[in-house]
Amino acid sequence: MNSIEPVFRILSENFPGDVDILQLRELTTWHTGGPAVCITVTTIGMLADLLGLTAREGIPWFILGLGSNVLASDAGCSEVIIRLSGGLARTEWHRSGNRWDLRIGAGVHLPSLSGAACSRGASGLEFAIGIPGTVGGAVFMNAGAYGNSLADFLKSVTVLDYRGSANIIPVEECCFAYRSSRFQKERTVITGVTMSLGLGDSSVLRSEGKRILELRRKKFPLQHPNAGSVFRKPADRISPGKLIEDAGLKGRTVGGAEVSRRHANFIINTGKATSDEIAELIDIVRESVLSSSGVLLKEEIRYLGRRN
Ligand SMILES: Cc1cc2nc3c(=O)[nH]c(=O)nc-3n(C[C@H](O)[C@H](O)[C@H](O)COP(=O)(O)OP(=O)(O)OC[C@H]3O[C@@H](n4cnc5c(N)ncnc54)[C@H](O)[C@@H]3O)c2cc1C
Repeated sequence: MNSIEPVFRILSENFPGDVDILQLRELTTWHTGGPAVCITVTTIGMLADLLGLTAREGIPWFILGLGSNVLASDAGCSEVIIRLSGGLARTEWHRSGNRWDLRIGAGVHLPSLSGAACSRGASGLEFAIGIPGTVGGAVFMNAGAYGNSLADFLKSVTVLDYRGSANIIPVEECCFAYRSSRFQKERTVITGVTMSLGLGDSSVLRSEGKRILELRRKKFPLQHPNAGSVFRKPADRISPGKLIEDAGLKGRTVGGAEVSRRHANFIINTGKATSDEIAELIDIVRESVLSSSGVLLKEEIRYLGRRN
């Protein structure tokens, strides 16, 4: 019997109709990864019940947004994949004086939020228009671009802990730094955020959004599955892409995985790459850059499931 089947059975008994076994390659932007038990959660109550059950039964879990920063094992994973939808993927907009106050569910699609903000004349989120994740994933990663990150606009983050208890954390206590947040060290689920945006001219904001998308289309290899930048900028802020290029690695392949010729900090799936091939290429890049430049690159992407 497949080892994920007992977990599938326990969850299905408690959440009939909400549980599936899916291939992670369908849920990640690298389009790789094997089978996992998946549940889509639509309310805070359902999430609290689920976390209570997983705590009692000792079932590990992993929150998956749009899988745009995740390398999922070819063998799948023993963690239950939790995805947020329905009532956890809505945005409430309130205009007060010269600001917009937003209450946003963690499952909201970040580029759509950014586009909606531009259309309503709410300024600040233009930078996020091409970051293909959810608001929860962007808070967890403190996603950013062009000198801005999500943290710049947040007021608070609401989480449920692993037993299902809610907590509202003011932004000052979220320990946001370059691509990091306190949530990377905790067993919590980000369920929503509050945010404050300024007023702007919607036609100016929309054309700024278009300009940014155009810039990204030219710079990034978007025609192939990828997970954005693989490595974080080192402490001295040298560009990992430049280090990888200088190490002569552009175009280097392992099976179907290739260091992009357009942007060396991207690894693309040229068609039939496996996660093992991508992971092997990541190791080659890390070791080659270390020996050519003395800089040890660290991954920005997150691993899901066992690495061979
Ligand atoms: C083409 C491309 C371009 C990109 N450009 C950028 C960029 O410009 N800037 C940038 O910063 N990133 C960029 N990324 C990376 C990625 O889009 C961001 O990190 C994004 O914020 C991840 O969101 P996600 O919903 O896909 O999270 P996932 O990839 O699904 O998950 C990432 C991590 O967040 C955790 N997580 C997700 N949701 C929650 C939640 N609700 N509660 C707790 N933990 C959670 C997951 O467990 C996982 O550890 C890019 C990726 C791609 C494919």
